[in-house]
Amino acid sequence: MFPKLYRSYPIFSIVFAIVLLFGCTAKQATTEVETEEELTKRALEIHDRVLTLDTHADTPLRMIEPGFNMAERHDPNETGSKVDYPRMKEGGLDAIFFAAFVAQDIRDDDGNTRAKALCLQMIDSITVSTQRNSDIVGLAINPDDAYELEKEGKRAIYIGIENGYPIGKDLSNIELYYEKGVRYITLVHSSNNDLADSATDSDGPEHGGISDFGAEVVKEMNRLGIMVDVSHGNDSVFYDAIALSKAPIIASHSNARSVTDHNRNMTDEMLKLMADNGGVVQLTMLADYLREAPPNAARDSAVAELRANMKPISEMTKDERLALRKSFQELNEKYPNPPATVQHVVDHIDHIVKVAGIDHVGIGCDFDGGGGIEGIFDASEVMNITIELVKRGYTEEQIEKIWSGNLIRVFKEVQAVAEQIQSSQA
Ligand SMILES: [Zn+2]
Repeated sequence: MFPKLYRSYPIFSIVFAIVLLFGCTAKQATTEVETEEELTKRALEIHDRVLTLDTHADTPLRMIEPGFNMAERHDPNETGSKVDYPRMKEGGLDAIFFAAFVAQDIRDDDGNTRAKALCLQMIDSITVSTQRNSDIVGLAINPDDAYELEKEGKRAIYIGIENGYPIGKDLSNIELYYEKGVRYITLVHSSNNDLADSATDSDGPEHGGISDFGAEVVKEMNRLGIMVDVSHGNDSVFYDAIALSKAPIIASHSNARSVTDHNRNMTDEMLKLMADNGGVVQLTMLADYLREAPPNAARDSAVAELRANMKPISEMTKDERLALRKSFQELNEKYPNPPATVQHVVDHIDHIVKVAGIDHVGIGCDFDGGGGIEGIFDASEVMNITIELVKRGYTEEQIEKIWSGNLIRVFKEVQAVAEQIQSSQA
């Protein structure tokens, strides 16, 4: 059994056996029982290696505030701000879609004109911010830009639009936004608009999904190479978008309804269809979409009262926003809800992977738009998602798909479809 040398010298055989035994045990310990510390270290290394892309932040709402500097680190507890360039770096967040978000307002010429002006102001604020901070970030237009910028040690800043309202009634606005760098448009927001029905309009659906005008918008987005985003749309909007769009679609910030029952989340049937479509659902960090809170009537009526007396956030002064934030903080302290955690987030990811597969899930935190939970409170804490994924046994290859690979795949397909459409029309 042992080499000749050890057979002739029994003492060596015993020593060899002991070394072998202990050697094996030590080896087994490292492969089978990884300490918490070792696992975290391994997760952070993976987090560092893969491109991390968050598809939804409403940070332009901040960027248009006079004096708000993206190159400065802000204290989220003091200012409510969840994203700036220093915190993106701290969290190892390589790329982000900043959404120019325009709250739904009156649907007439005046309203549409105002919406367009605000949308352009937000897009310009993103462009200016990337120019001013070109040593640490870069404006990204194409899928590969994020990888190029990552190599240069810079954060990639993509632009999206949340709510198709600023398109107004004029299809040519879509090309204007595209030329400025917009690469996805969320068709609708919390209320119905001229394009589509919202999942949360208190008056219910108006068009039965996507309107005729909305169908024209989808067609134009396909021609240009802008991703069609169905988050905030009602279920019919999702089915219509799948049927209308020649390219795969995205949900830039939505979760799984069979895990957390909310209209903003997607049913298993929708998740399966999303897989057939080749699209992607980007998980979001909004507590109400991540876990069901026990009924709390006192809290509900206090929230309703606060909302009823509230004017649209985009019309508020800085002081009014601060006051509103304080009121919500007080309300949360008075009527606490159980926190949503990173475990809830990965429960949703597990479910989507089970139903739709690993190729159809990603991450869109919705920071500065209500996103932020215990353990993923702002951009500086997004690595905790990777740590939890590693804890649950996800491999680096799978984590890469979740953090960016899936979305980038869809983005490339959307561009390829646009090229086909344009060359067939030429
Ligand atoms: Zn949103």
